[in-house]
Amino acid sequence: MRKLLSIVLLSALLATSAFANVVNNEVNTAAERVLPKVVEWRRHLHQYPELSNREIKTAKFVEEHLRRIGLEVRTGIAKTGVVGILKGGQTGPTIGLRADMDALPVTERNSLSFASKEKSEYNGQTVGVMHACGHDTHVAMLLGAAEVLAGMRDKIKGTVVFIFQPAEEGAPAGEEGGAKLMVKEGVMDNPKIDAIFGIHINSQTEIGKIKYKSGATMAASDWFTIKVKGKQTHGSQPWSGVDPIATASQIIQGLQMIVSRQSELTRAPVVISVGKINGGVRENIIPEEMTMAGTIRTLDAQMQKDVHEKIKLTVQKIAESMGATAEVTIETKTPVTYNTPELVKKMLPSLEKAIGKENVVEDVWTTGAEDFSYFGEKAPSFFFFVGGMPKGKNPKDAAAHHTPDFFIDDSRLDVGVKAFANIVLDFKMDGKLAKISRENDFAEIQSNEISVQNCRQPDFYESPFQTFRFGVLFENDAIRQLCDKS
Ligand SMILES: [Zn+2]
Ligand SMILES: [Zn+2]
Repeated sequence: MRKLLSIVLLSALLATSAFANVVNNEVNTAAERVLPKVVEWRRHLHQYPELSNREIKTAKFVEEHLRRIGLEVRTGIAKTGVVGILKGGQTGPTIGLRADMDALPVTERNSLSFASKEKSEYNGQTVGVMHACGHDTHVAMLLGAAEVLAGMRDKIKGTVVFIFQPAEEGAPAGEEGGAKLMVKEGVMDNPKIDAIFGIHINSQTEIGKIKYKSGATMAASDWFTIKVKGKQTHGSQPWSGVDPIATASQIIQGLQMIVSRQSELTRAPVVISVGKINGGVRENIIPEEMTMAGTIRTLDAQMQKDVHEKIKLTVQKIAESMGATAEVTIETKTPVTYNTPELVKKMLPSLEKAIGKENVVEDVWTTGAEDFSYFGEKAPSFFFFVGGMPKGKNPKDAAAHHTPDFFIDDSRLDVGVKAFANIVLDFKMDGKLAKISRENDFAEIQSNEISVQNCRQPDFYESPFQTFRFGVLFENDAIRQLCDKS
């Protein structure tokens, strides 16, 4: 009897999974069918790129497409952002899918028929504009996914929110923008998104591949400024003054000592780069002061906090030893982009159904940053990379993002369409994810000091103090009690 029961159960199970696979195959075929259109849209967007917070024509293009396929459309979110809402034929969770829309002040250097010839104003300068980070492909792939999914609405369980985001590269000086502003304007709350997914094309990953990393995947980005004040004197008599330039050169060395001698690099990477130095007017004058500015990249909240403290200490002590004074300011631009491990584990089979197991590759973390992390503070999230490099090319020979020679082979943009569409078909909320979401909400309500992600840290329950892996570090155990209670 038991045997019979298990046979019945097994065949029922096989039947459901076979049915599921039929639908997954159907969605893959639909993605291949829509590919020529996706390529056409991508090339159009590529030819007419727009800078951050200026994505007017791009937003219009997206809006018209979403209306044509019958989605509920909201515009003007976080300035030029567009959101499309697709209600499935069956009840279920709400899934967010995100594409960023902005281009960069870079002049395109190639002979493509759809190369950008656009120019714009950026910080008072006339600049070329180029989709040098591939956000044109993100928009096109998400529009493709919207079209595929709108065509099979009755098979979708739940609601899909298509998020077209402005200003991922950073809003112009003095303006708000990007994911942070979208979140602030409630894009994750109405309807409440249960899990969010995002992709980034990569010019140095072969077409047909997806790369991902569970847990922290992209770095937190902080910007710092250091002002060193000395005492001006004649260049021939440094002993009569205090040299801020010589002090600064020691500070730069000191910053690298924080990375190489004081950071636990086997735990997570740390980068400190000085990108700007300003000081002095003439060869034979030691100036009064100088400033430098740079960026800090970390993938662990505790290490981020430690690095900030060590920078302040190092700068202050070196300046002091030279008789100078120094001032450090640090501003966090983007938190760590964190892939919720439970969600990654749950959704990998969908990516494998989309493009084959052998093409979904686990990768290492990157020290680049993504403002997708702001969405990830509000719901379990998964951000992964889609290949855009021609097959067989050496990644070392492929131009990096943000450069004039940046190039994307768009022949396999179906990969992103398939990934998004398979995720939507397969995603189900389960107890674990629901708990993570609840804990986030709870933590957030209790204190806006607390990063909403704290409760979901793997180490959290083992050591309640200072072990969070990203976001804001919370150093007392009140949150632990809150999480335990929730
Ligand atoms: Zn970029
Ligand atoms: Zn980008």
